[in-house]
Amino acid sequence: MTQGYDGMNVLVTGANRGIGAACAKIFAQAGAHVLCADLNDPVETVETIRAAGGSAESAICDVSDEISVSGLFTRISEGFTTLDTVVNCAGIIHERGLLDTTTAEFDQVMAVNLRGSFLIGRESIRAMHPKSGRLIMIASDLSYYGREEFAPYVASKHGVLGLVRCWAKEFAPNILVNALCPGPIDTAMLAAENMTPEWRAKELEIPLARFGQPEEIAQMALFLAGPNAAYITGQGIGVNGGSIMP
Ligand code: NDP
Repeated sequence: MTQGYDGMNVLVTGANRGIGAACAKIFAQAGAHVLCADLNDPVETVETIRAAGGSAESAICDVSDEISVSGLFTRISEGFTTLDTVVNCAGIIHERGLLDTTTAEFDQVMAVNLRGSFLIGRESIRAMHPKSGRLIMIASDLSYYGREEFAPYVASKHGVLGLVRCWAKEFAPNILVNALCPGPIDTAMLAAENMTPEWRAKELEIPLARFGQPEEIAQMALFLAGPNAAYITGQGIGVNGGSIMP
C-alpha cells in the first residue's frame, strides 16, 4: 500500500478500459476506494480490483449527459463521506478532414471531451470538501499543437486545458486542478479503425520511439493526487515520450 492514499475516495471516469481502467486499478492498489464510472458498466475493472483485494464499485455514466452526471453525483453525495480525487479519463477521438467532418461528428467529440470535462469538473468541485480536493483531467499532447484531420479532437483537448487553467486559479489554494497530457498510449483509442499501420508508425517518430503504457499515465495521476504534489496546480503535465516539449 502506498502512503497517503489509504481511505481516500476516488472517482475515475472512462474506467472500462485503457487509461481509465489503469488509473482505477492503481488507486485501488494504493489503498483508495474507487468508484469506476463509464458509459458501459466497467464491471471487469471492478472485478479485477476486488480479486486483488482492493475496494471498488461501478457506475454507469455518460459524461456528456447532464442528467446522467447528476445521477452519478447524487450517488456520491449519498454514499461517500468525502470525494478526495477525481480522474476524468472518458474521451473519444475522431479522425477526418475538415471538409468531410459533419456537424454531428464535431458535436459528439465536443460533447464527450469538452462538455463532459465541464460537467464532471463542475460537479466534482461541488462535491469535494471546499478546503481540499484534487481534480485531474486527461487532456493530450494535442492540447498544445494542431494536427491535420483531427480538428474537433484537438479543439476539445485545447479546451480541456483551458478549463483546468481557469479552475486552478478559481479554486486555489484549496482544490488543485491539473491536466495530464499523454502522448501516444497503447490503448484501443490508437487501434481505432482509421488509425492505419502507417499512422501508428508515424506516431513512433518521437524521442522515446515507443507507445506509452496506460499504467505510465496512471502513475502520474496517482502522484498528482498524493501528498507530494501539494505545490502543483494549473499544469498540463506531459507524459509523452518527448512527443512535444512546450
Ligand atoms: P479508450 O478508447 O481505450 O478508452 C476511453 C474510455 O472512455 C472507454 O472506457 C469509453 O467507454 C469511455 N467513454 C467514451 N465515451 C464516454 C462517455 N460519453 N461517457 C463515459 N465514458 C465514456 O481510450 P484511452 O484510454 O486511450 O483514452 C483515455 C483518455 O486519454 C481520453 O480522454 C483520451 O482522449 C486521452 N488520451 C489518449 C491518448 C492515447 O494515445 N491513447 C493520448 C492522449 C490523450 P466504453 O469502453 O464503454 O466505450
